[in-house]
Amino acid sequence: MTFDYDLFVIGAGSGGLAASKRAASYGAKVAIAEGDLVGGTCVIRGCVPKKLMVYASSFSHLYEDALGYGWGKVEPSFDWRKLTEVVDKEVRRLSQLHISFLEKAGVELFPGYGKLLDAHTVEVGDRKITADKILIAVGGHAVKPDSPGIEYTIGSDQMFHLPEQPKRFVAIGAGYIAVEFACIMNGLGSEVTLINRQEKILRGFDEDLRTGIQDGMSKHGIRFISGITDHTLSIEKQPDGLKVTVSVGGKEETVMADTILCATGRKPNLSKLGLENAGVEIINDAIAVKSDSSTSQPNIFAVGDCTDRLNLTPVAIAEGRAFADTVFGHTPRYISHSNVATAVFSQPEGGTVGLTEAEAREKLGDAVKIYRASFRPMFHSLTGADEKTMVKLVIDSTTDRVLGAHMVGKDSAEVMQGLAIAINMGATKKDFDATIGIHPSTAEEFVTLR
Ligand code: FAD
Ligand code: NDP
Repeated sequence: MTFDYDLFVIGAGSGGLAASKRAASYGAKVAIAEGDLVGGTCVIRGCVPKKLMVYASSFSHLYEDALGYGWGKVEPSFDWRKLTEVVDKEVRRLSQLHISFLEKAGVELFPGYGKLLDAHTVEVGDRKITADKILIAVGGHAVKPDSPGIEYTIGSDQMFHLPEQPKRFVAIGAGYIAVEFACIMNGLGSEVTLINRQEKILRGFDEDLRTGIQDGMSKHGIRFISGITDHTLSIEKQPDGLKVTVSVGGKEETVMADTILCATGRKPNLSKLGLENAGVEIINDAIAVKSDSSTSQPNIFAVGDCTDRLNLTPVAIAEGRAFADTVFGHTPRYISHSNVATAVFSQPEGGTVGLTEAEAREKLGDAVKIYRASFRPMFHSLTGADEKTMVKLVIDSTTDRVLGAHMVGKDSAEVMQGLAIAINMGATKKDFDATIGIHPSTAEEFVTLR
């Protein structure tokens, strides 16, 4: 049987772009469909515009810190519209750049949403396209609880297009997105409250990282309403703003907001994909895949957030490339989802790789040894700011292997990337100790922990 393409990719985000270009590099005839701007969540409404806003929000802290170093007081003014305009311009530039990369790679772009008609046919608009292999890389979308007044809240997509900066900002949720935007809006001068159903933010991360980031955020003036009772959230529109009501330990708490971000998790974009037409199985709202990213339909594969494995850009890219190498490059390889380094771009920032202390103790019990330091970083010795940096290693004392590394403080993401290489190579605490530090730096603390 002949097909229009060797590979048809649905979704031009991190995973789809990486896979389509890699497959084309092996000589495959490849096309890709994208219903929105080329680039996907990361480039258009995620990592990239978010990080630019993190940079924007960090200046206010620096202006204050500079006083300790002899600089005069800055009376800063901030133009929200200018920021959102320049961020949008940069995002559109990057989207165009990705289109040009596709062209260069010889991948044909079909603008529009793709729908599976059968295991080898995709419909995009009024076109029906056939392909030998199909890759689904459609990403996900934000989900909100079914609470009264939830329609007054926005999701992270809308954060980049608010016409005005909210004076009073509330974030519901305490995962990456709520925490990062709470810090961004705090740095930009909004009054911020974060509403969490746990006692501490960032469930699943190491306890010291959770505490370190939450303490740092509190010191920057972010208010926390923690331990809210499930299903007690309600929102009412009032003449002077949005009134959020929750219950904490039987006591009602309220907060007024101009903008409420609901960041209570994300789900794969599967509703209009026609998966049922192609016999692609869904488990727990995500496309079920094997370790080679193949689905229940042998010629259809899926990568990235729509498979809900580890929802990070570099993971979607790695899965996409591994798929292309395996299927079109005849170099079978799978990626490992363990020991993937990640960072929370909060202020203070958090970085992590490998097992948390709790995970390690559950696996190895008393064999776990912890090395930790919490200190005022040198930068703040002159600023007077009460900021702490935390570095931590989780060790298996029977093998001396480093199982996890965690950090709170400036440049945690940058530090953690290097540590991830060492940990993935199986480094021991002795290897860390044998490494001579860079002085003076925060990173050197990881090789001097006693
Ligand atoms: P996506 O990048 O979402 O791409 C899917 C694409 O498919 C989209 O362009 C969509 O329009 C398109 N599409 C959907 N359905 C169809 C269809 N039927 N036909 C055609 N096209 C379709 N990760 C990090 O690693 N670091 C970060 O700092 C980070 N920050 C984030 C901040 C925010 C606010 C959010 C929401 C996410 C963030 N992420 C971050 C996660 C990261 O963006 C995702 O893990 C990554 O984009 C997943 O890539 P993907 O290819 O699976 O999906
Ligand atoms: P997460 O799943 O990380 O966090 C969701 C948060 O919402 C949790 O705190 C959760 O609480 C809370 N929540 C869920 N349901 C409710 C409810 N009904 N009422 C109150 N709170 C609720 O999702 P995010 O939306 O923050 O991020 C999605 C994913 O995007 C991340 O997991 C990550 O993979 C990716 N991402 C990565 C970033 C990075 O790499 N820096 C940045 C942004 C996103 P509980 O803990 O109790 O379940």
